[in-house]
Amino acid sequence: MASQEIEALAGALARLPGLGPRSARRAVLWLIKRRETALVQLLDALENVRVSLVECRTCGNVDTQDPCGICADPRRDSRQLCVVEDVADLWALDRARLFTGHYHVLGGRLSALDGVRPEDLSIGKLIERVAAGGIDEVVLAMNATLEGQTTAHYIADRLEAYPVRITQLAHGLPVGGELDYLDEGTLAQALRARRPVG
Ligand SMILES: [Zn+2]
Repeated sequence: MASQEIEALAGALARLPGLGPRSARRAVLWLIKRRETALVQLLDALENVRVSLVECRTCGNVDTQDPCGICADPRRDSRQLCVVEDVADLWALDRARLFTGHYHVLGGRLSALDGVRPEDLSIGKLIERVAAGGIDEVVLAMNATLEGQTTAHYIADRLEAYPVRITQLAHGLPVGGELDYLDEGTLAQALRARRPVG
């Protein structure tokens, strides 16, 4: 039987997305064999993340500064706002500077199944940003899933009262496609061919 310490670490790792109990235990054994190298590096990296990373109070991005590097960058076009579900989607779109405006991270997607309601996401804050003015276009870059599209429609309705152009990523995104998993070419194409919502 594995010791309590190993079980505790494997249990914690198994809660990570994409890592089940089996692979978690294998990761723990792998780390134990490399306790002076990989394990130390992992500890340092985890501690750095714990100490230095904060959530941007403007857009919800995760960075070492608040406002984040994107919100604080004067070269970016503040008249364009791209709304994404998660920080991973922001990073996917920003990887190759596919989008040079500002972002807004919702923190998830509406889901009747998981009980995620509009007030659970940062939709109110998004409306506030748009209401404050200075934004010409809101790009809804939700994932091409049923819940992502439901979220996009909900937001489009809420933004209807404001004088902004509301667009969404072009169809052509694979159905069920999560932005984070798409290659840059596909993302760039979906962004270039974005179309008005409605
Ligand atoms: Zn930010």
